[in-house]
Amino acid sequence: MFDRASVVTPGGVNSPVRAFRAVGGTPRFMVSGTGPYLTDADGREYVDLVCSWGPMILGHSHPEVIAAVQAAVSRGTSFGTPGEGEVALAEEIVARIEPVEQVRLVSSGTEATMSAIRLARGFTGRSKVVKFAGCYHGHVDALLAAAGSGLATFGLPDTPGVTGATARDTVVLPYNDLEAVRAAFAAHPGEIACVITEASPGNMGVVPPADGFNAGLKELCAADGALYISDEVMTGFRTSKAGWYGVDGVGPDLMTFGKVMGGGFPAAAFGGRADVMAHLAPAGPVYQAGTLSGNPVATAAGLAQLRLLDDAAYAKIDAVSAELRSLVGDAFTKEGVAHTVSSASNMFSVFFTDEPVRNYDDAKKQEAFRFTAFFHSMLEQGVYLPPSAFESWFVSTAHDERAVERIAAALPAAARAASEATA
Ligand code: PLP
Repeated sequence: MFDRASVVTPGGVNSPVRAFRAVGGTPRFMVSGTGPYLTDADGREYVDLVCSWGPMILGHSHPEVIAAVQAAVSRGTSFGTPGEGEVALAEEIVARIEPVEQVRLVSSGTEATMSAIRLARGFTGRSKVVKFAGCYHGHVDALLAAAGSGLATFGLPDTPGVTGATARDTVVLPYNDLEAVRAAFAAHPGEIACVITEASPGNMGVVPPADGFNAGLKELCAADGALYISDEVMTGFRTSKAGWYGVDGVGPDLMTFGKVMGGGFPAAAFGGRADVMAHLAPAGPVYQAGTLSGNPVATAAGLAQLRLLDDAAYAKIDAVSAELRSLVGDAFTKEGVAHTVSSASNMFSVFFTDEPVRNYDDAKKQEAFRFTAFFHSMLEQGVYLPPSAFESWFVSTAHDERAVERIAAALPAAARAASEATA
């Protein structure tokens, strides 16, 4: 299948990290998923610790989500008009997250962050965007810049196809460094439209914000008249009922969402202060649109999933995450592997270093080659991890005792493989 795919699709995949380039080997083609398990085209079953990179927080094929989707599909798949489902999903988001007074639905996290930045620029009449190295906000041109460390470095494009002119309006700073943010505002007073940050980063491995970091960003933005955008595409409706906002209580001007809120379908959103959102078309002059925005099937899936995510569901996910973190840590300790299990609520990842990891430069210092050996051992034993040392692991309410036991049984050999790995 991968050979077939490689003929008709660049690199054989429709999103790069699926290609196993960081760990080597042939990606598994999955044909079905039930609860915490995935089954590949060769009929092998895996405990899934990727959960579609976050969305499948109730596990795969949850009966109530499937029923909601089937009911929606039977009424038609897209109307290109307003519909009740999108209103209900927007109401659910607004009810859960206090700083979100209004929300606009889109189809991907990338679209959400792209639109939020356009809105911030339109609202403030300013051009520059501050982002942090190691934070991923989708493949938005202006956000695919991650110049090296250093104060207020102007972004250099990370990829061909993003022009220098686009990247020049992006200021890339080291994560968790409020001094760097202060210096950027001092260097560009009245020019910065917004600071965008992952609410709690999961795209350089899991690196939570230091105490006071998000609050400091909010304060610095407010003092300069810039907007503070919290990207909750990954953390939203996962790290608590109200996402990372529910954990640290720092209210941004704008927020972005995706993954969990789509229930496995392409639904995402951005929202926030009503006076800012009022600048969006057709209420205001900042244009933004989408043929499939608020799609009735996607909104039905997302709404069904969110309605099932009550306090008990989060308690269950948090408990499974804590149990796995402890099992993983013990396995590495037993084999004498230097490691840090880093977590933010129920999101976690392993860094192969015992030095503190506060930003992307720290994360890159880990012995990532150990992850490769660990990953392949786990895969061979039927546990599907994200195929990169710089990704969060995800669990769901469906990860029960049996699934945890299977992971626990695989860990000793995988930790040994990590300890024996050479660069
Ligand atoms: N923002 C964050 C924090 C993400 O983790 C991602 C995707 O992983 C995105 C934005 C982009 O979302 P999408 O892949 O739906 O475009």
